[in-house]
Amino acid sequence: MDIKRNYNYLLSDLSSLKGVGNKTTNLLKKKNINSIFDLLWKLPRSYTDRSLSSKIKDLKINEIQTVTVIPQKYSIPRIRNLPNRVLCKDETGEIDCVFFNSYEGYIKKILPIGKEVTISGKIKYFRNKYQLTNPKYISENSSIIKQKHNSYSLTEGISEKVYNKIILQIINNLPDIDEWHSKYILNKFDNISWNDSIKKLHKPENIGKFRENFYQRLAFDEIFSTFLVNSEIRKKIKKIKKTRKKFDTKKQNEIISKLNFSLTRDQNKTLDEINKDLCSENKMFRLLQGDVGSGKTIVSLLSAFNSINSGFQVAVMAPTEILARQHFLLAQKIFPKNIQIELLSGKSTYRNKKNILDRLLKKQIDIIFGTHALFQKKVEFKKLGLIIIDEQHKFGVNQRKKLSDKAGKDCDVLLMTATPIPRTLTMTIYGDMDLSIIREKPNIRKPVRTYSKLESKIEDVIKFIKKEIKLGNQIFWVCPLIEESKKIDHTSAIKKSEYLRKLFPNQVFLLHGKTTNDEKEIILNKFLKNDFKILVSTTIIEVGIDFPNANVIVIENANKFGLSQLHQLRGRVGRGNKESSCILMFKSNLSENAKKRINILKESNDGFWISEEDMKLRGFGDILGFKQSGIKNFKLADPIHNHNLFILAEKEIKRIEKEKEDISRFKPLIKLYDRADIINDIA
Ligand code: ADP
Ligand code: MG
Repeated sequence: MDIKRNYNYLLSDLSSLKGVGNKTTNLLKKKNINSIFDLLWKLPRSYTDRSLSSKIKDLKINEIQTVTVIPQKYSIPRIRNLPNRVLCKDETGEIDCVFFNSYEGYIKKILPIGKEVTISGKIKYFRNKYQLTNPKYISENSSIIKQKHNSYSLTEGISEKVYNKIILQIINNLPDIDEWHSKYILNKFDNISWNDSIKKLHKPENIGKFRENFYQRLAFDEIFSTFLVNSEIRKKIKKIKKTRKKFDTKKQNEIISKLNFSLTRDQNKTLDEINKDLCSENKMFRLLQGDVGSGKTIVSLLSAFNSINSGFQVAVMAPTEILARQHFLLAQKIFPKNIQIELLSGKSTYRNKKNILDRLLKKQIDIIFGTHALFQKKVEFKKLGLIIIDEQHKFGVNQRKKLSDKAGKDCDVLLMTATPIPRTLTMTIYGDMDLSIIREKPNIRKPVRTYSKLESKIEDVIKFIKKEIKLGNQIFWVCPLIEESKKIDHTSAIKKSEYLRKLFPNQVFLLHGKTTNDEKEIILNKFLKNDFKILVSTTIIEVGIDFPNANVIVIENANKFGLSQLHQLRGRVGRGNKESSCILMFKSNLSENAKKRINILKESNDGFWISEEDMKLRGFGDILGFKQSGIKNFKLADPIHNHNLFILAEKEIKRIEKEKEDISRFKPLIKLYDRADIINDIA
């Protein structure tokens, strides 16, 4: 039965493949290969050319060779452990096929006496005779053997032969898919179709040809589909009409005038962008992106203040209680007294909580701070007009979409992230949102001095720290956590804190993976109050919290961290107006790569630039653990090598948006490439 296949064939289950049983299906599923489409991206790593065959007399020893022979005689010894042999001939000579652990019946079946058979494998020479041991490539049909055979990085339990067969079956059954791209785009890839591109992708001789049109087209498809889904979500959110917020910026400016600093140009610019959104009739869905310490909090609080003045309530969600409290205290300090400010804490008593919930519902609270607990069902607002979420870089597109849906029609959404990332990544990950970026930092900041030190020179570091403590300063001491050996690191951090405790009695506290949240808060609060001097930790110190007194950070085993992470860690200090330092410690002499990274860090304090450099050194996916955070990873596309494709995709999306083009022709593309639930609303 020959049915015309459409793209649904590619989405069908692996069990619909011929000759693929439960065992293979399950092995693949374990590797997250669930559909035929998923198998397309299982690419050959290398290939073995078995296409040329020679005569026995011309065989080259120790090379993989193909030869057509006629089996003559079996010798099947009845003694265990002795191999079975089949003597084979052609008109030029003799060769022995040698089998260990193979059944007689099987051998006689694949090498029948007197029949022409093609065999292939690595040729040996033993006791004056050519020999082929345990040949895997044997067939009476020479064309099956005489070709290029792909090698895959194998899923355990599935042989190369099975893989080749499965892939071949899929390639032969590829559906004809109507072209989804515009002529302009297609032209950029020499008009190669998706179908032909996939075929070329799997041709052994095309392995590693990243620059060729077929590869570029497929990489582009991936990028483009991600961008298209992002664009559709954004359009959908934008379409939601809301009540415009009306406020007088005079009041906002009064607050600004009372701050003990003036806003930077970027702070002013982003505040304007947000205010404009608040006043528009379209719902805001905006990301405020800025480096650590660039001053996002004040921008977000001012926009909260404006929303309150417009008669709405505001919810501010932080990732931790301590950060929520810090924002809460800041609001209390800068907002006029008539504004009702609350903190919903996990530690509040039941009565207290109930009271807060009641007052929220009666609109007796204008702004509430808290953790994700703020999004529980029982927390209801009378007139919520703005949700602010701080340091949210762990949300995926799906979660954000849900958040926006839940927020309700009149509620604007502002997300903040202190994770500067390369532009290509921002487009990919946050393309569903409008973007405001704070690049410049407050100019009162002194750059953090960055040093590198061998671990054996720890005494110098201790001396330095003693001096700093005398000046009233505090110190972060970071021991990295390596996933594979949590236990070891753990003990190393404990040992380090014991060592430091001896030198600085009563001045050292330790945070590690096993510290409970409650303990952690107590310790962090003490540190904030300057009750002790040195905080040793294995985990990354809470993002976002301002420790104005801490101005030294020591990072052990600094080579375990990526550049961006080092930059983030360094950003824990240097937030006040003091001179501050970052000491990177290394176990042994620095590798070239480590030297490069230190120089990059010394050279710049600009997180965006550093993240670009980080990506160049480490590759996409590794930076800042985006791989782990569930954010989609590309199969072929690479933001470094395919930078131009990202730009092209962005341009094409903008064109489609501008010309309000019908996107239904992209339905197969989206269905194939992006099977998140969000697309059900779209295509
Ligand atoms: P982040 O962007 O990392 O959230 P914060 O908003 O916590 O940064 O700001 C870090 C510190 O910088 C705070 O102590 C804040 O008061 C201060 N700050 C913010 N804006 C300015 C500014 N324009 N000039 C000087 N200091 C500022
Ligand atoms: Mg912050």
